Amino acid sequence: MVGDVPVGGGAPITVQSMTITKTADVDGTLQQIYQLAAAGADIVRCTCNEPEAAEGLARIVPRSPVPIVADIHHQYRRALEALEAGVDCLRLNPGNIRKPEHIKVVAQEAKDRGVPIRIGVNGGSLDPALYDAYGGRVTPEAMVESALQEIGYFQEVDFDLIKISVKASNVPLMIEAYRQLSEVTDHPLHLGVTEAGPPPAGIVKATAGIATLLAEGIGDTIRYSLTSDPVDEARLGRVLLESFGLRERKNVDLIACPSCGRAEIDVYQVADDAQRAFADREIPLQVAVMGCVVNGPGEARDADIGIAAGNKRGHLFIKGTNVAVVPEDEMVPTLVEWAEFIHAEGMDAAMERASATRDAARRAADEDRRRNLADRGDDANASEQVVELLRKQREG
Ligand code: SF4
Repeated sequence: MVGDVPVGGGAPITVQSMTITKTADVDGTLQQIYQLAAAGADIVRCTCNEPEAAEGLARIVPRSPVPIVADIHHQYRRALEALEAGVDCLRLNPGNIRKPEHIKVVAQEAKDRGVPIRIGVNGGSLDPALYDAYGGRVTPEAMVESALQEIGYFQEVDFDLIKISVKASNVPLMIEAYRQLSEVTDHPLHLGVTEAGPPPAGIVKATAGIATLLAEGIGDTIRYSLTSDPVDEARLGRVLLESFGLRERKNVDLIACPSCGRAEIDVYQVADDAQRAFADREIPLQVAVMGCVVNGPGEARDADIGIAAGNKRGHLFIKGTNVAVVPEDEMVPTLVEWAEFIHAEGMDAAMERASATRDAARRAADEDRRRNLADRGDDANASEQVVELLRKQREG
């Protein structure tokens, strides 16, 4: 347990993030913790790098909406102070707190208080002795050994409230380290690609590492480490778990077509508007924005609700059935209003509501579909012309 949040042992996988404020700034840090919690963080870590940070934690922990982990580097005394401040978990880096007597004092104190510790091995700050022992390279084996050494010290004081991470910025290295670690320990694992960097590449790297392991059944809690607003980290973590079906959906799953020559609206703009409109609404539905009525309702028939453009109109559909037609500039507000209705009243009530407009909506959609096909033809992207051209070039 990290505070009241279970980690490991079949518990739902949790999302973590870390504040970027000075922990001594209590109000600023609490404000960010609340933002992170609202964006989907189940657990938040704050640095405890100076005595004032420990004092800040003493004020933050009782007022935080989620459990707080104190991040400790170099100074084991900060760990003792953080425990005194009442934190729900510690993160120790075995690469920079290396004296066994210091590690054991912290573990004993954590044990007495029933507070767990994450052993946070980091490829970039691996214990120099292990680095040398493995040929002057950071290897998965060296990272796993670092974690096992730390567990060994903990065992000497009979402490086993442990979770472990073996993060690296190199994705294949991190994946292999976690795979090896999962073979030798049953302790819960915290996944992350450290220093993944700014979006979008950072998001891709973090997702590649975390998702690969989750798909293999490895991992109990995750963090996106991005050079970006930590609120994005929390949101992305949540989205990843939702997309794997590992957490119940909290917010809209917005799907949208990629647009093409047949599109009758600026799909990117409308999808962006929809994303903004749904951002702060907790509506766990799949919502589709489609560029044309020719293919949109069919391709998005599994979505709970969607809208497709046609001849300056928006064709609203529920589970692939056309239910209403609205002017183009009302597409997004209409989507939001009906999504809220479905969320509050249920799908059957929505179909009932649509009974008066459904037939007219289907006729209007057929009309606009025919018009689009007449205007743009069956081959709106001119693919066949290009294929013809390619063939001619090859023959010529
Ligand atoms: S055919 Fe229609 S729905 Fe499909 S990508 Fe093109 S505009 Fe979007």
